[in-house]
Amino acid sequence: MSERRYDPTHGEWVTVATGRQDRIYKPAAAACPLCPTRAAHEPTEIPRGHFEIAVFDNRFPSLSPRPPEPAIPGTDLVPVEPAYGHCEVVVFTDDHDATLADVGVARVHLLVEAWARRVADLGADPGVRYVLPFENKGEAVGVTLHHPHGQIYAYPDVPPRPAREIAAARAHHDRTGRCVFCDVVAAEAGGVREVLAGEHFVAGVPPWARFPYEVDIWSRAHVPSLPELAPEARADLARVLARVLAGYDRYFDVRTSYLLGIHAATTDGADRDVTHLHVEICPPHRGGGKLKYLAGSETFGGAFLTDVAPEVAAERLRAACADATAPA
Ligand SMILES: [Zn+2]
Ligand SMILES: [Zn+2]
Ligand SMILES: [Zn+2]
Repeated sequence: MSERRYDPTHGEWVTVATGRQDRIYKPAAAACPLCPTRAAHEPTEIPRGHFEIAVFDNRFPSLSPRPPEPAIPGTDLVPVEPAYGHCEVVVFTDDHDATLADVGVARVHLLVEAWARRVADLGADPGVRYVLPFENKGEAVGVTLHHPHGQIYAYPDVPPRPAREIAAARAHHDRTGRCVFCDVVAAEAGGVREVLAGEHFVAGVPPWARFPYEVDIWSRAHVPSLPELAPEARADLARVLARVLAGYDRYFDVRTSYLLGIHAATTDGADRDVTHLHVEICPPHRGGGKLKYLAGSETFGGAFLTDVAPEVAAERLRAACADATAPA
């Protein structure tokens, strides 16, 4: 079963994809499906002996270009539709034990290029409205495959969080005539919450951080999406991202778990005056080996509470990023 059901009480779609229960759960390194194929009789997802970046369809997709017919009929109250879309896996190293923080800037640059190309290709599908590249990293956020990898989901509509972001940006634009993210960059760059300054991107703990050590990486220029990013800006994004991730590992003194997602324009070209490319990185770490869990206020109130001042978190991460030597 793989279908979308509409929640009329919140105005959101939920995808029910039961095939995902059968996906491979924390395999041993010797059985890793994302390592290069070791022997012809035991093929992995990647039929090569060596690779830099590999992108392929998720074998356990929640959204697919040929979705099955829904198992239950939709009603006027709860519409049900086939779960159309795409789910891709992006493996960014053949080293089972590496992380995005230590593959090096050159490889992160290749990843940025791969993201840009996939966003353009998937966005060209007329059935797709929004493309979201993301990475779930580490057991603390529930990762089931340890081999370093990210994912790309192409949705048939704009998912709730980017939709709310676009609505807020539209309201700001109506009030001021400006892009809210351009205003954020002007306010935050060089300020107390800046973590790292690149030529084309700036990283900072946003004043409204939902996780104690959340870092957002904003394009300095008003660029709506990855494919529109100039070559030198793509290289700069890779440098800033690699250094922020290395700074996390240095600060927490562990291989930091995090959720990373890229927000950008919708694929239909609407709202380009208010959609502004940025990366959001949310580690669950609170320091001292403690983790932040989504609890009652966050889950039922949608209201985040954090216990570290963003200014303090930024000062700590700024020092850690300055010390961290991101591999070239
Ligand atoms: Zn592996
Ligand atoms: Zn902008
Ligand atoms: Zn965002």
